[in-house]
Amino acid sequence: MKFLAFVGLFLITQSNLFAQKYTFTHDDTLRGSITQERAWWDLEFYHLNVRINPADSSIKGSVNIRYKVLQSAQVLQVDLQRPLTIQRITQDGKELDFRREGNAFFVTLQKPQSRGNQESILVEYSGKPHVAKRAPWDGGFSWKKDKEGLPFVATSCQGLGASVWWPCKDHMYDEPDSMQISVTVPKPLMDISNGRLRRIIDNNDNTRTFEWYVQNPINNYGVNVNIGNYVSWTDTLKGEKGTLDLSFYALTENLEKAKSQFQQVKPMLRAFEHWFGPYPFYEDGYKLVEVPYLGMEHQSSVTYGNGYQNGYLGRDLSATGWGLKWDFIIIHESGHEWYANNITYKDVADMWIHESFTNYSENLYTEYYFGKQAGSEYVIGCRKLIRNDKPIIGIYNVNHSGSGDMYYKGGNMLHTIRQLVDNDEKWRQVLRGMNQTFYHQTVTTRQIEDYMSQQTGIDLSKVFDQYLRDTKIPVLEYKIEKKKLLYRWNNCVEGFAMPVKYKNEKGEWEKIQPTSDWKTLKIKKLGEFEVDKNFYVDVKKVTS
Ligand SMILES: [Zn+2]
Repeated sequence: MKFLAFVGLFLITQSNLFAQKYTFTHDDTLRGSITQERAWWDLEFYHLNVRINPADSSIKGSVNIRYKVLQSAQVLQVDLQRPLTIQRITQDGKELDFRREGNAFFVTLQKPQSRGNQESILVEYSGKPHVAKRAPWDGGFSWKKDKEGLPFVATSCQGLGASVWWPCKDHMYDEPDSMQISVTVPKPLMDISNGRLRRIIDNNDNTRTFEWYVQNPINNYGVNVNIGNYVSWTDTLKGEKGTLDLSFYALTENLEKAKSQFQQVKPMLRAFEHWFGPYPFYEDGYKLVEVPYLGMEHQSSVTYGNGYQNGYLGRDLSATGWGLKWDFIIIHESGHEWYANNITYKDVADMWIHESFTNYSENLYTEYYFGKQAGSEYVIGCRKLIRNDKPIIGIYNVNHSGSGDMYYKGGNMLHTIRQLVDNDEKWRQVLRGMNQTFYHQTVTTRQIEDYMSQQTGIDLSKVFDQYLRDTKIPVLEYKIEKKKLLYRWNNCVEGFAMPVKYKNEKGEWEKIQPTSDWKTLKIKKLGEFEVDKNFYVDVKKVTS
C-alpha cells in the first residue's frame, strides 16, 4: 500500500511526460528527498573512523556526525545500506533507540534539540559492504590484488551513495564544512583518502591508522579510501591562488609509467585555472591516486585507472584524433574539481551540472593547447555518441539521474551557447564567475540557468528547455525560392528562437534569428545553404 501510494503521488506531481515510464519505491523517496527527518539539522562535521580488513572483505567503524539544529525535532534520519548494520547510536554517551526502514535509520533523540545548538551523534557500524561489480558505475568496494598479491582496495559510490560503505546523511544538498577520515589498514598497506594526511599511527596489532583531514565542504560520494602498497612523490604548482601541493600515488609496479603519464597534471591545472578560475581546494592539495577501476572525481584525491595511456582506455571518443593527445581520466576527472566538487548538484536529477560542464572542459583543454579549431572539432566529434533517448534532467526527489546524454549533448549545448555569446573573453568570465558565485555550494539547475542568462545577457531559458528537458533536436528548415531564402525552426519546444549562423553570399558567417514561423531573406544567388556546425542543430531543405 505504501508503495502504491507513493507511485500515485509521484505521477500526479510530475508534469514530465517521461516520468510515467518509471516507478519508484518508498526507499527511493527516503534516499532521494529532503525528508523532514533530514531537513531540521545542518551537517557541520563528520569523523569517519573505519578499520578495513581485506582478508575477509569486512569493515568496522564509527562516524561522529556533528550538526546544528535548524528546527527543533526529535527524530533524525541517517542512512546505511545493506548488508551493513548499525550496532549502536549514542548521543552524549547515552544509547538511543532507532528503527530501520530499508536503508534509512530513524533515530529517536532523547535530549531536547534546541534551535541553534550544536549537537552530535556517534554511529557504530560493521559488516561486509556491497562489492562493486562494475566500478565506478555500480559502486561499492573493489577488493583486488597487485602483482605481488598484496591487497589493492578502493571505494566508489556516485549515484549509489556513500551510505553503501559508511553511515551518513546520504543526500547531496547538505555537505559538512570539514571532515576527518581515519582509516586503519594492515601493514605494509597505505590508505589515501581526501584532504591532507595529518599523521600515521602505528598500532600494536600490525596495522596503521592513516588520519586525513579535509578542510573544505565535501560531497558524500567524493569521500574515498584507496588502499595499496603505494609509492608516492610530490610536486608543486605556482597557480592562481599561490602554491598548490601535488601528490601522486601509484603501485610500485607502475612507478615509471605513472611518473611519465602524471606529468599531464600540471598543464591540465593551468588550462582549467585559465578557464574556470583557481583550483577550488588549495587547502586540501591535489592528489592523483592509482586505483583498480577506471577512475572517479573524488575531491582532492582524483582516482586513476586508465592504464597509463592517452584517450579513454586508449580510445578517442571524438574520433578526431584530438582525444588521443591527452589522458581522458586525468583531464575529465580533474575537471570535476570545478564542476562536481566545487559546484555540486543538490539533486542527482541535475547531474548535467557535473557531467555537461566536465565533458565541455575536455574541449576547453584541447583548445588551450591545440587551438580553437581543435577544441571545436573535439566537441563536434563527440556528437555521434548522443542518443536523444530521454531528457538530460532526471526525476527529482527519488535519486534518479537523466540520460547519459548529459555528457556529449550537454557539452554540445554549452558549445552552442558559447556561439550565442560570440565573445571568447566574456564566455571565459561567465565560467570563472560561476565558480566564484557558487563556490563550495550545492545548486539546482534553475540557479545555473538563471546565472548564465544574467551573465551572458541572453535569455537562454528556451535553449535549456530544448536541450535539457526534451529529446528533440531543433531542425532549421529552409527553402530557396527565386530571390528569397526562407527559414524557420521546426521540431523544437514552443517559443524556441535561438539565433544561428549561416554562410551568406559573400562567404561570411551571418547571424539570423529563426522562429517557428517562416522568415524571409532577400538573396541574389546563394549556392549552398551552409549552417555553422558549431551550433548543435539539424538542417533540412524543404520543398513546396
Ligand atoms: Zn564525469
